[in-house]
Amino acid sequence: MAMETIGRLKRDAQQIMVDHSFIFVNEYCTSKTCPTDANGKPVHKNDFQKLQNLVTEEIFCPKCRREAVERCFRESETQRHETIFGTEAQKYDYLKRYSIIGERELITKNKGLKDYVPTTAEAKTNKDLATQAVLKIVGGTPINVLLTGNTGCGKSHLSFGIANNVNEMSRRDGHAMTVVYFNYKKIYNMITASFNDKSLKGRDYFLKIAENAQCLVLDDVGSELIKDSAFSSELLTEFLDSREEKHTIITSNYNFDSLKQLYDARFTSRLSRYQFPITFAETGDYRAGQIVM
Ligand SMILES: [Zn+2]
Repeated sequence: MAMETIGRLKRDAQQIMVDHSFIFVNEYCTSKTCPTDANGKPVHKNDFQKLQNLVTEEIFCPKCRREAVERCFRESETQRHETIFGTEAQKYDYLKRYSIIGERELITKNKGLKDYVPTTAEAKTNKDLATQAVLKIVGGTPINVLLTGNTGCGKSHLSFGIANNVNEMSRRDGHAMTVVYFNYKKIYNMITASFNDKSLKGRDYFLKIAENAQCLVLDDVGSELIKDSAFSSELLTEFLDSREEKHTIITSNYNFDSLKQLYDARFTSRLSRYQFPITFAETGDYRAGQIVM
């Protein structure tokens, strides 16, 4: 007999052994006898006939076994998540620990979206949109919020409000999310300064912090432009890479069409995915009208 045929016969025989190494036995797992889950409820309501593994002679309920395997998988997912993002407390503290903000008042005077007092109908609509964005983010829907409008319309305030609300709400829900807020001009200047001074925090540091943030805010994109945007395009593209299933909020004085003119298409095409626009077209200087920050 050809070697090939023998090999196939052997594989067939192994397959038959695998297929037949479990038999049904005359025992049932019922809701009264089966183990309970984490909430103290029986794993199943109906009766399941038990199986015996002929190799190990173990008798088990197929339904309970499958539940246990799935639970184990869910737990290892949670574990994996904790290894990447840290414990609940570490995730909650991420915003305060790693953010680089433009104005200190953003943190000291704003506790969240509730502190954003709209002065125009458009601002009111945009505050509602910001609230919707928070709910989507906390609910796990990946979105890219593009918040645009003239200087002073309240973009930074609103974007920090989103960050703060996501931080607070996700922790209350028992799954704290890592959130970080970067004033883009500041970190851009720090990164370019680090080219000549290796002791400064640079590109790799900020990209890592951003990558580990489930929700990233880049505030005032476009304010860094001095002469050419090639390096900034590259940097922004890197920031948006590896943000699958994550959430990004970008604020800018430039609208999406202007951003497309200013930056490389690799950045703006990433920005256009799951885009959630919040646009100030009419609102003037937010700060002049009300709270003094
Ligand atoms: Zn069972």
